[in-house]
Amino acid sequence: MFGTVHAPLFNPVIAAKEMVTADHVGEGRFGLNIVVGWNEGEFQMFGVKQRDHETRYEFAQAQRVARGKFTGRDVSFDVFLKKKRVPRLTRTLATMMVQGFDAADPRKASAREIVEEWTGGGLGASQPRPWGGYASLLESLAVPVQLQTVVTRTHWQRHSVHVEGLLRGEPWRAWAPRVVITVPIGVLPSLVKEKRAALSKLESGPVIRVALAFREAFWEKRHPGVAFFHSPEAPFPTFWTPLPMHAPLLTAWAGGPKAARLTGKRPEALVGEALRSVRALFPGDEQPSAYLVYDWQADPYARGGYSYVLVGGEGAREELARPVMDTLYFAGEATDAEEAGTVAGALRSGQRAAREML
Ligand SMILES: Cc1cc2nc3c(=O)[nH]c(=O)nc-3n(C[C@H](O)[C@H](O)[C@H](O)COP(=O)(O)OP(=O)(O)OC[C@H]3O[C@@H](n4cnc5c(N)ncnc54)[C@H](O)[C@@H]3O)c2cc1C
Repeated sequence: MFGTVHAPLFNPVIAAKEMVTADHVGEGRFGLNIVVGWNEGEFQMFGVKQRDHETRYEFAQAQRVARGKFTGRDVSFDVFLKKKRVPRLTRTLATMMVQGFDAADPRKASAREIVEEWTGGGLGASQPRPWGGYASLLESLAVPVQLQTVVTRTHWQRHSVHVEGLLRGEPWRAWAPRVVITVPIGVLPSLVKEKRAALSKLESGPVIRVALAFREAFWEKRHPGVAFFHSPEAPFPTFWTPLPMHAPLLTAWAGGPKAARLTGKRPEALVGEALRSVRALFPGDEQPSAYLVYDWQADPYARGGYSYVLVGGEGAREELARPVMDTLYFAGEATDAEEAGTVAGALRSGQRAAREML
């Protein structure tokens, strides 16, 4: 007997339990057909809005390409995809996802790490955020936080670290027997030399985001209730709307090589590229009434969005996290092997570094 589950409606744990029971009762004669659904009305009943049928299946295929157990020598994600015999559209979407989600260059990113990440259920998982933003987390900690302080130099020996920098433009210095360093990996080499080997196996992926406010949500006429739009060939290949909130806002997103091509351009030029991408999806001449542009690669305190592992870089995150002479301790998303590139990973890494130090 074969049962069918619609992946967007079924909690996988419940599905697994029910299927195991059916398999037990049926003495091993039970099979499961997992599909991504077709009957729109059925999904609306549960408040689930579907992408159109073709795109839905192509996205499901694109994710499946990089799921499973990775065996053999590590290769780039690009080479990995070429070895798979999948349709061109599936390849295009899988490449777009690596560039968009991981901000990675598929020609350099480790296929082993991407397969592990996608197989681990990180994709599409819910991402809770504290109400009112992350500042409320800091406020709940009863420790003073000194902002607007730029560290420009560190020198250290065992159990003695001198830090120099600028506090609101004025010279500032501090000393501590041990420190936790949490700057992004794009900034780290300018402050400490000890992690060169680990850093040669990691890269910070460029990301650019352009938020556009329009007078009306013109996309809702043709695609009401759609949260994401994709145009793989455009300079900004991904857009999202603020759904479930209804507002005339579109966010354009470019990651990886697409962002690398655009980085450093003036905000007006980036808005122009974002509008060109919008028009590839929605022909017309709508002009934004306001916009906000952020280029993480061009930010001297970020030098990229978040980290990814290069081909052959297995173990680089653990190597980066390792303390040096019980004096320098390291935290930050890049040091977390489980949830790198996320706030959850950054928070976990801070707890890990604190435990190591105490
Ligand atoms: C565009 C974008 C979207 C994202 N979306 C999500 C998401 O939806 N969900 C999610 O979980 N994660 C998301 N992330 C990832 C998440 O934001 C990061 O993984 C996380 O913020 C990393 O935390 P961190 O403490 O390691 O580094 P950061 O948050 O980068 O903190 C490092 C700090 O060091 C400071 N610094 C740098 N240089 C110096 C210096 N010389 N002196 C003093 N201070 C310095 C920086 O100003 C910064 O405050 C996103 C990231 C980006 C860029």
